[in-house]
Amino acid sequence: MILNKFLANLESQEIWDICIIGGGATGLGAALDAASRGLKTVLFEQHDFAKGTSSRSTKLVHGGVRYLQQGNIKLVFEALRERGLLLKNAPHLVHNQKFIVPNYKWWEKSFYGIGLKIYDKMAGELGLGSSELLSTKSTLKLIPTLDPKDLRGGVLYHDGQFDDARLAINIAQTAAKKGATVLNYFQVIKLNKIKGKISGVEVCDQNTGRIYQIKSRCVINATGVFTDSIMKMDDKKHKNIITPSQGIHLVVDGEFLNGETAIMVPRTDDGRVLFAVPWHNKVVLGTTDTPIETISTEPIALKEEIAFILKHIGRYLTKQPQPSDIKSIFAGLRPLVKGNSDTTAALSRDHLITISKSAMITVTGGKWTTYRKMAEDTIDIALSNTQIIAKTCVTKTLKLVGSDKPQFSADIEFISESELEKLIQKSIKEEMCQTVEDFLARRTRQLFLDAKIAILKAPFVATIMANELNKDKEWVNSQISDFNNIAKNYLPNLD
Ligand SMILES: Cc1cc2nc3c(=O)[nH]c(=O)nc-3n(C[C@H](O)[C@H](O)[C@H](O)COP(=O)(O)OP(=O)(O)OC[C@H]3O[C@@H](n4cnc5c(N)ncnc54)[C@H](O)[C@@H]3O)c2cc1C
Repeated sequence: MILNKFLANLESQEIWDICIIGGGATGLGAALDAASRGLKTVLFEQHDFAKGTSSRSTKLVHGGVRYLQQGNIKLVFEALRERGLLLKNAPHLVHNQKFIVPNYKWWEKSFYGIGLKIYDKMAGELGLGSSELLSTKSTLKLIPTLDPKDLRGGVLYHDGQFDDARLAINIAQTAAKKGATVLNYFQVIKLNKIKGKISGVEVCDQNTGRIYQIKSRCVINATGVFTDSIMKMDDKKHKNIITPSQGIHLVVDGEFLNGETAIMVPRTDDGRVLFAVPWHNKVVLGTTDTPIETISTEPIALKEEIAFILKHIGRYLTKQPQPSDIKSIFAGLRPLVKGNSDTTAALSRDHLITISKSAMITVTGGKWTTYRKMAEDTIDIALSNTQIIAKTCVTKTLKLVGSDKPQFSADIEFISESELEKLIQKSIKEEMCQTVEDFLARRTRQLFLDAKIAILKAPFVATIMANELNKDKEWVNSQISDFNNIAKNYLPNLD
């Protein structure tokens, strides 16, 4: 991905087939789908790729055991199929993860055992392995930190785990390889119309302040929790369709699981599931489901949410994690599509595609796991709604950029300065990394793994980036200060 080439494309391309607003999983997936069908595609992300919800997930590529409990069979089938496809197309970022549902009550083994056998069957040929009933001894062998008191064994099952922000970057790179122009730090500020129909967008380069008028045959709104703000640009009378719900995660040291198997707690006090999953030598604990009013690109975990996770996961472990054990806290906002239910946990995770009077297409809801199918459905609808001719979707078997290479280092704590310098250079040249935060939060995952280490590394990263990007000392200082302002919210308040 080369910024200057993309900027030149903006100047030279008279009219685009597809213009996408939003560079999270949904928008990037749509860009890849469209470009790989041969469509002239441009995508604008107001911040960095995956800065929003798409870097803040639980990192599971899953059918959703919880949706099975809720009886949402269609969603589970679709997600299990997508899980299998993603494992084939991005094997460098997605892997088969073992989970155990620990059993402390007499009925749990048969209840969850049967449910997970159904889950296995639903995955069919794309299954990741059979679920198994485990004895107490075998359960403790796989998760030695589980509280052994009253433990009656467990049920083991398989799901996928991935690195969300890295996947977003690789999808952007694959879309670019197929001819798409994908720009981060470009904000759509207005929708242009001719005779009431969308004809393009007005977009502002956040680095230079320059405004571009972009003509496009079709405009797709893929802005997650910001969906309603774009829909209001289209129609002032638009009534909100998104109910944002915050979910937070705590990251603690790997010793809290002391192995490679994750814990799935099937029912918390508020009727949700909770996970403790090994990730890049740490453990991710989460999540919560808290309705919120304010939409922000840097949502902040509430004290009650942190206490909730520590309390619930602590019930299952011999050593209960304390606030001082937290290495990083990250919060994300679910773009849930409004339903009739009062609780956000029961709102649909299914995706919704709508076409407005002006012919703007909005795609929202869904989950990371189903991003490819959401994209396929969106571009199919875009084609059927316009005169654009293109081939059918090809992404089911399309290998993503990076799938033939080892993973990018997520944790940079122990890599040498010269290695780190090379990583920074690569992320600028090939991955459109523009800020210290881009590098520490999404090109690597240091901020999400250990915020203190990320803060310590920020001055070195800023200095190397300044050399590469031809920036001065003032830029270095403001980058460090901007980063520290964000990173402090990833640390627990231990007062
Ligand atoms: C706590 C939590 C845990 C989750 N865990 C999982 C999981 O384990 N597995 C799973 O499959 N799914 C999971 N999900 C769901 C998944 O993360 C989301 O469904 C997905 O990331 C949504 O992607 P998106 O592209 O729709 O939204 P976003 O990632 O938020 O992207 C929208 C983008 O639009 C941009 N934008 C907004 N306005 C403009 C504008 N005017 N101009 C340009 N750009 C604009 C924003 O900056 C943003 O980057 C989880 C979600 C949450 C919140």
